[in-house]
Amino acid sequence: MPLLVVGSVALDSVETPTDKRENVLGGSAVYFSYAASYFSPVRLMGVVGDDWPAEHTGLLQKRGIDTAGLHVVRGGKTFRWSGKYHEDMNTRDTLEVHLNVFEKFDPVLPADYKRCEFLFLANGSPTVQMKVLDQVGGPRLVVADTMDLWIKIQHDELMKLLKRIDGLVLNDSEAKLLTDDDNLVRAGHKVRRMGPQFVVIKKGEHGAMFFSEHETYVLPAYPTENVIDPTGAGDSFAGGMLGYLAANGEFSPKTLKEAMAYGIIVASFNVEDFSLARMQGIERADLDQRLAEYRKMLTF
Ligand code: AMP
Repeated sequence: MPLLVVGSVALDSVETPTDKRENVLGGSAVYFSYAASYFSPVRLMGVVGDDWPAEHTGLLQKRGIDTAGLHVVRGGKTFRWSGKYHEDMNTRDTLEVHLNVFEKFDPVLPADYKRCEFLFLANGSPTVQMKVLDQVGGPRLVVADTMDLWIKIQHDELMKLLKRIDGLVLNDSEAKLLTDDDNLVRAGHKVRRMGPQFVVIKKGEHGAMFFSEHETYVLPAYPTENVIDPTGAGDSFAGGMLGYLAANGEFSPKTLKEAMAYGIIVASFNVEDFSLARMQGIERADLDQRLAEYRKMLTF
C-alpha cells in the first residue's frame, strides 16, 4: 500500500568532529522515503531547484520511490541546510538554512497521490502540512513530524493540525517545549491529549518513547559504535516505522511496537555514514538480521 511523504528535499553540508561533506543529498522527505522503501511503495512530494543533480532523483527511483511529485523550479535553488555536530555526536548546531524554493513550497498533489492511504507530513510548516492533508481523500493513517521553529512561530496552526492527525513524532526537547514540561513521560501524554492517538518522542542515542492511551514504553537505540553522521536519524526512523505500518495495513499495539523497532534499526544503519551512503549498501535482509539481534538483546 503506497505511503505518501511530503517534506524537504535538500542539499546538506555536514561537519562532524572528524570529517565533513558538502552539498550531499539530504532532506527530511529523502531520508524518510529511502528508509520506508525497504518496506512499502513510497510516493515522494517535494520541491528542488535546477541546481538539483539528476542522479539524486535516479538514486531514489532505483529503490522504486515514485518521484512524480518532485517538482523542479526552473531558475530556482534547492533548499540547503548545514550543520555541525558537537564532540558527543548527539547534539548539533545549525550553521545555515537557505530555504530557497522550499520557502514558497505549495504542494499540489498529482491525482494518484491524493488516494494514498498512508501519509507522513515530514518536518515543515503546519500550514503547508494542513494543505497537504486537505488534498488527501480519507487517509487511514496520518503521522506528522514537527520542530521547535513551528512550535514557536505557528503554535495555533500546529494545535489545529494535532487534532487532525493520528500520530506525532518529535524530539525530546521539542516535546518539552510544546508542553512546557521537563518530565518526558508527562510531556508525551500531554501531547497525546492535544489530539493524536499516539506520540513518539525521539531521544537520539537513547532511543524512542511511545505513548498511547493505554501504553507507555521506551525502546533503546540499537548500540552501534560506528556513528559517523547522525543527520536524518529521526527521518529514517519515521520512514522505517511508517513503511512497516503501511506494509502491514493495521495498527494494533503489537504492530506499532514492531514498527518502532524497525524504525530504530533503519536509523542505526543510517548514522553509520554520511548522507544515504550506508542505507544504499543494505537490503531488507540486513534490517531483519539486525532486528533479530536487537530482539535478543531486549529479552531477559
Ligand atoms: P534529522 O537529522 O532527522 O533532524 O533530519 C535532518 C534533515 O532535515 C537534513 O537532511 C535537513 O536537510 C533537513 N532539515 C533541516 N532543517 C529543516 C527545516 N527547517 N525544514 C525542513 N527540513 C529541514
